[in-house]
Amino acid sequence: MTNPPAVRDVMREFGDDYGSRVFSGNNIRRRISPNSYEKLEQTIKFGTKLDDDIADEIAAAMKEWAIENGCTHYCHWFQPLTGATAEKHDSFLDFDGKGGVLAEFTGASLIRGEPDASSFPSGGIRDTFEARGYTAWDPTSPAFITLNGGEATLCIPTCFVSWTGESLDQKTPLLRSVEALNTHAMRLLKVFGSGDGVHRVASTLGCEQEYFLVDEELWSLRPDLMLCGRTIMGADSPKGHQLDDHYFGSIPSRVQAFMGDAEERLYKLGIPAKTRHNEVAPAQFELAPLFESTNVACDHQMLTMSVLRKVAREHGLVCLLHEKPFAGVNGSGKHNNWSLSTDSGRNLLSPKRTVHENLEFLTIVTAVVRAIDLHADMLRASIANAANDLRLGANEAPPAILSIFAGHMLQTMIDELKSGASIDQAEGSTLSLGPSAMPVIELDAGDRNRTSPFAFTGNKFEFRAVGSQASVAWPNTILNTIIAESLDHIATRFEESVEDGMDEAARDEVVRGILAEIMRSHDRVVFNGDNYSDEWKAEAARRGMPNLASTADALPAFSTDKAKALFDAYGVMSVNELEARVDVLHENYYSVLTIEARTMLNMVDTLVIPSAARYQAELADTVAGTQAAGVDSKAIKSRLTSLVEQTNDLQSSADAVRAAMARCEELESDQHARTQAIHDDLLPAMESTRSACDGIEGLVSSDLWPLPSYTDLLFSSLV
Ligand code: ADP
Ligand code: MG
Repeated sequence: MTNPPAVRDVMREFGDDYGSRVFSGNNIRRRISPNSYEKLEQTIKFGTKLDDDIADEIAAAMKEWAIENGCTHYCHWFQPLTGATAEKHDSFLDFDGKGGVLAEFTGASLIRGEPDASSFPSGGIRDTFEARGYTAWDPTSPAFITLNGGEATLCIPTCFVSWTGESLDQKTPLLRSVEALNTHAMRLLKVFGSGDGVHRVASTLGCEQEYFLVDEELWSLRPDLMLCGRTIMGADSPKGHQLDDHYFGSIPSRVQAFMGDAEERLYKLGIPAKTRHNEVAPAQFELAPLFESTNVACDHQMLTMSVLRKVAREHGLVCLLHEKPFAGVNGSGKHNNWSLSTDSGRNLLSPKRTVHENLEFLTIVTAVVRAIDLHADMLRASIANAANDLRLGANEAPPAILSIFAGHMLQTMIDELKSGASIDQAEGSTLSLGPSAMPVIELDAGDRNRTSPFAFTGNKFEFRAVGSQASVAWPNTILNTIIAESLDHIATRFEESVEDGMDEAARDEVVRGILAEIMRSHDRVVFNGDNYSDEWKAEAARRGMPNLASTADALPAFSTDKAKALFDAYGVMSVNELEARVDVLHENYYSVLTIEARTMLNMVDTLVIPSAARYQAELADTVAGTQAAGVDSKAIKSRLTSLVEQTNDLQSSADAVRAAMARCEELESDQHARTQAIHDDLLPAMESTRSACDGIEGLVSSDLWPLPSYTDLLFSSLV
């Protein structure tokens, strides 16, 4: 597993700045006793509980380091259910008891904070009159220093829980799910006798982040971009990505300068950014880090989004992390690369050459296949929100049907497993490029399939349906939990059937039998074809797989008895906590769409109709003047008629949006009914309004159109 200190050491070669704003490695070692350092390391590596008595020493060291780096304040940094991060700053200042003040930071302040919990979404767990909430230090994720407006602040990653101990954040259930994975993966290693020297198994995560960049000045002229993060109207540009000339194209120099700065900022925060390139759509880009343990990777992912947003503004750009900033143009996702690794650094999803070693690999694969087949509904629901609805199923993103792409090598192994034949890794072959001077390149053992929502990519699974602005903690909590359940199931079956003292060959026979049986029951979820095609939708329906096309369809997956029992059984979320989350998800859907609908109406009333009216007056004058001159102005007259008709249509659609909003508001007491009504009633009204606006944009003289167009935003923005 690539722990942050390991990545740090490698990245040191890139310069002393790497990780300079992270409290880890040498920054700690130099400041605390070797004994305390060892204890802290045990906690970071193996998740053992930290002794209370060393908290004071660590707090003092952290304070010293932070003050040396210009901090006057510290904050407990946490991830409430808003989808963003939160921080409450406290200065190090305290009374010294002798009438003066000193800089103070105790172990108690490091370990526990007490922000008001009532102002964050809690799904009803916390009311305003019972506001107490706690933040609790997560020693496994390193503290870091942020710079904002020239001010340095020490940020301490924390969990956020209510006075009752119920989680109010993204991190707490994630940590619990990592724990569940560890417990059951370790049982499996024991069966295989491969657990020697392994203290822990944890999931690893590397997230590829897609985003758009637009010019800040143009952005500021679009209320929809400012308030909703996406355009809620806008006629197509004559050019989209038909020519495929943007993907991996040369990066515009203004963007390159931004990327360089963002990466430098990320390096200082110990975030190992690795890859950068243009994405498919114009003005779309991607950044990918080296992978890390999931908890740290999730924290780093939140920080990455924040750094991208901030640094873009310093370059006169705005970074759009929304899943679908522009209709008709590819949206953005966050490929969630997931694997399981031992603390000794062994990736359990790396296929090996011998049958024996591949059985362990196939056990993990079987657990993943079983988990996705049994709980595709919940995994789908884990990425459901208003923004991702605009992207999933559109023809550049995976559909809402969650299937697994195995690829040639893994499919061969699965087939052999099921049929009982020998299981050897399909060898990669080589590719000669022709001219003898060219090197012969080794082929991977499987091709890629960009249409799959959940693809095996050689030594990890890539969950591609995650939205670009989402916090990845939630989908990974679901993924870890459902896989932990399958690991548990398989470990139990193994433990029941593998007898003590059984020789290896006999044991392997038993194990293979169990895996083959489980695989046969669940591999309908494996699909290697084109996930964008209509045939697949029909085939998936035949296989009985869920196709939960919208958030309204998907969220009920969290309200089933199956879901409640699962999260409760693995200690990830109590029924109360789960219900609270569902409540927050519905509320978020409502809030996002209400803001979008209001923004839309406001733009219609104050921008679109006024400019249509101006152009209408201009056309009417022209027609009258031309008629008066005795000439029949057929073209202008028909333009005028069309404009008047479209403006009338726009007015009726906008009225329909108002009426639908009112109807949805009445459903406040039944959140699911409200989400469904928004989907069935409000969204179609908004779509008609948009299409009327876009029609008018296509007619009105461009000097009278008040908004930057798609061409302006996508093509002229970055040059
Ligand atoms: P691709 O998506 O083209 O296969 P890479 O192989 O570079 O690209 O990997 C993409 C992302 O997957 C990177 O962020 C990388 O860190 C991450 N990744 C690679 N191996 C693992 C792993 N074992 N666990 C989790 N993430 C991984
Ligand atoms: Mg990828």
